[in-house]
Amino acid sequence: AFNAAVEAAQPALNAFIVTTPEKALEAAARVDADRAAGKPLGTMAGVPIGMKDLFATKGTQTTAASKILEGFTPQYESTVSSKLWDAGAGMLGKLNLDQFAMGSSNETSAFGNVISPWRRPNDTAPLAPGGSSGGSSAAVAARIAPAATGTDTGGSIRQPAALTGISGIKPTYGRCSRWGVVAFASSLDQAGAMAHDVTDCAIMLEAMAGFDPKDSTSLNLPVPEWTAGLSADMRGKKVGIPREYRLDGMDPDVARSWDDGIAWLKDAGAEIVEISLPHTKYALPTYYIIAPAEASSNLARYDGVRYGLRDLPDGAGLQDMYAATRAAGFGPEVKRRIMIGTYVLSAGFYDAYYTQAQKVRTLIARDFTNAFMDVDVILVPTAPSSAFALGEKSADPLEMYLNDVFSVPASLAGLPAMSVPAGLDRNGLPLGLQVIGKAFDEQGVLNASLALE
Ligand code: GLN
Repeated sequence: AFNAAVEAAQPALNAFIVTTPEKALEAAARVDADRAAGKPLGTMAGVPIGMKDLFATKGTQTTAASKILEGFTPQYESTVSSKLWDAGAGMLGKLNLDQFAMGSSNETSAFGNVISPWRRPNDTAPLAPGGSSGGSSAAVAARIAPAATGTDTGGSIRQPAALTGISGIKPTYGRCSRWGVVAFASSLDQAGAMAHDVTDCAIMLEAMAGFDPKDSTSLNLPVPEWTAGLSADMRGKKVGIPREYRLDGMDPDVARSWDDGIAWLKDAGAEIVEISLPHTKYALPTYYIIAPAEASSNLARYDGVRYGLRDLPDGAGLQDMYAATRAAGFGPEVKRRIMIGTYVLSAGFYDAYYTQAQKVRTLIARDFTNAFMDVDVILVPTAPSSAFALGEKSADPLEMYLNDVFSVPASLAGLPAMSVPAGLDRNGLPLGLQVIGKAFDEQGVLNASLALE
């Protein structure tokens, strides 16, 4: 049924880059075989999921939504995807995304925009599903996949979840292995789960997480039984409301939904505490130095020699091949990030930009450490607005970057954070609220999110 739904919705949503119905069926057949053999079933047995096309999948094209990887078929499976298959899940296909996960609207994909299943009333203008995990959010929101993987570098799980009315969790940095995930900004990249509700996210994240010796930043900690520990009882818990997130000119619907969330957590027994995260205003500029810097370094590997596309003009030398391949293979946003990153890492500007940004990153992380001495979790909006129309922000990169204002601080600090649906705005479009937790406390994040559900 899900395979048929994917096929039927693909022309309207463009959520998938490739579909793999046979893999979903294989997982279903495995359930029957295991049952007949009396074998225990995995926690995701038979569940057909969408796989963001940033995860290497053995034998299935992996593109990162870039032309430079078109036709690249990995010989290996990412740790996260192989854990999901081990838990019994099956793959519906590889989901569209912003190219190399750089974007907030899915408009930077080389395989066309993803289109959100949502519309404003009496308006046919196609809306952005958020990004970069926009194929994931659109597919789950459209009910053509019960769950999907996402990755989050500066908000790419949380923001698309918010814009499409679904749930998504980014765990503590290091919980999910980055091995086999196409690298964007290695000190920020984390995989996570996107699904209809908190419980489904907990089940899926439990299957994805765990120590991996092949990722040097992987956390060597056991994976807690988050699903078994779910509880919406907030009695005895303190919820921090950071005053710096109340921006001047904040969308009134976003402000109202935040107030609703505060009231819901109070009803669940929580004590609400106003807190301060004084360096919040520096998070966005800090992120847009560090993420491009790391990206420019990570993307140096796409040279026409090792992967995918090779543009070798007649009589060209090696340097010419590098240049021609990269010019033809990378999209404009990726080139912009490489230029910014190379600039901030260059000898004359390194200290002024990169070193400075690293210092500010530490201050931002310290703000959270201080706040978490007083509170258990922090509640903030996920994104500054509901879904915008395709094309509305794509002409102005800075306007697009502003979308990440509420999501990048937790990324820079490596903290677990989850977005859950929190009502509709004046146009009937979904809004999301974000719960940020202490490092390693996914349970606290999931439980507060459950109380908001
Ligand atoms: N929108 C942010 C960016 O463009 C975040 C992307 C992400 O989390 N992958 O960098």
